[in-house]
Amino acid sequence: MPPEFPAERKRQVLERVSAFLRERVWPSETVLDAGGQAAQEELARLRGEAKAEGLWALPLPREIGGGGLGLTEYFSLAEQEGSSDHGPAALGSACLLDVRMFQRFGRPAVKELLKPLVAGEISGSYAMTEPGVAGSDPQAARTTAVRTSDGWLLNGRKWFTSGAGSASYVTVLASGSLFVTTDFSVKREIPVLGAAGQFEIALDDVHVPHDHLLGEEGDGLRIAGTRLALGRTLRCLRWLGMAERAFDLMCRRATERQVSGSALADRQLVQQHVFESALAIRSARALTHQAADLVAAAADARIEIGLAKVAAARTLHQVSDSAIQVFGAEGLGPDTPLPMLARIGRAARILDGADEMHVSDTARRLLRTRAD
Ligand SMILES: Cc1cc2nc3c(=O)[nH]c(=O)nc-3n(C[C@H](O)[C@H](O)[C@H](O)COP(=O)(O)OP(=O)(O)OC[C@H]3O[C@@H](n4cnc5c(N)ncnc54)[C@H](O)[C@@H]3O)c2cc1C
Repeated sequence: MPPEFPAERKRQVLERVSAFLRERVWPSETVLDAGGQAAQEELARLRGEAKAEGLWALPLPREIGGGGLGLTEYFSLAEQEGSSDHGPAALGSACLLDVRMFQRFGRPAVKELLKPLVAGEISGSYAMTEPGVAGSDPQAARTTAVRTSDGWLLNGRKWFTSGAGSASYVTVLASGSLFVTTDFSVKREIPVLGAAGQFEIALDDVHVPHDHLLGEEGDGLRIAGTRLALGRTLRCLRWLGMAERAFDLMCRRATERQVSGSALADRQLVQQHVFESALAIRSARALTHQAADLVAAAADARIEIGLAKVAAARTLHQVSDSAIQVFGAEGLGPDTPLPMLARIGRAARILDGADEMHVSDTARRLLRTRAD
């Protein structure tokens, strides 16, 4: 642990992030999930509070306005911050992947985005997945980038582009390269199991100057791989934060609810839900921290990330489902966050690479390791 983040300070920051989520972000989730103007205003209010309390942009570099935490330190907070899908946006760390990607692969024109991004004045989206082709196979993407005298001309469609409705720029995979552009049009919003936040966008004869290419021509999938390693690790930590929240609710309900003269907690079939959920959370957490340690050390973590991604996604899906079961009908209604957590758990098994893709890729890597 570096001297600026000793154990005592780490504990304090963890507690404050945890309290901010519980007391400020969780109560706003219904408004934030609905999207639109009201959600934007609510998010702006939360961001103002996070800034005032010194909790803003903690893992972003100091020289561009962040809190300067290293990856290892941030990983220890990411579960708490991720206990709501809106936590990273409210606390200003949602741009971490873009910031790291632009710092490493962006030219000066793209690096100009860094300070406004960290300040929360602008936001960006990341567009790889396309209608009509398998997102699991990025080589199949059909969006084209054709060279012109001073850059490229982009044409194509992307969908499930998170946050594109309010984004100032989008990073687009086209013809094997990654480009940053502000020139895209939002075609429609795509609700995911009823929740806002995903969009279909079009790129119609979009001119991108050379200095908005990330890395070199043809580097797109390599850069995307670097981004995904950290992105998937963070996603696992956040899913665990949400699973822990569903677990807490389930345990409280099991203890308080009386059925035929005894608490639900006394029923073995309910105890089974509690046991299986704790087993899933603790196993997935151990796998996720193995992956996180390797990612923080910039080591090859592909096997560990594959294992962690599948374990964490399954865990959130399973634990939120168990919690709904223990709550009964109330668990399906609007009075608890369980439907939201179950929705995120369901989507988790598809996004950031469908579970099946991770199972096959990881198994192949494991088999190769053994053969070697
Ligand atoms: C909430 C949400 C947010 C998202 N945000 C973004 C974003 O911001 N930017 C972005 O670019 N994309 C985003 N996506 C898209 C996501 O990355 C893709 O959904 C994912 O990569 C899978 O691609 P696909 O949906 O095209 O499914 P496909 O690739 O068509 O796969 C469909 C199914 O086929 C099976 N399958 C796939 N591969 C294999 C395999 N190797 N072995 C066996 N079975 C397999 C699986 O059952 C899989 O679910 C988001 C998706 C969701 C749901």
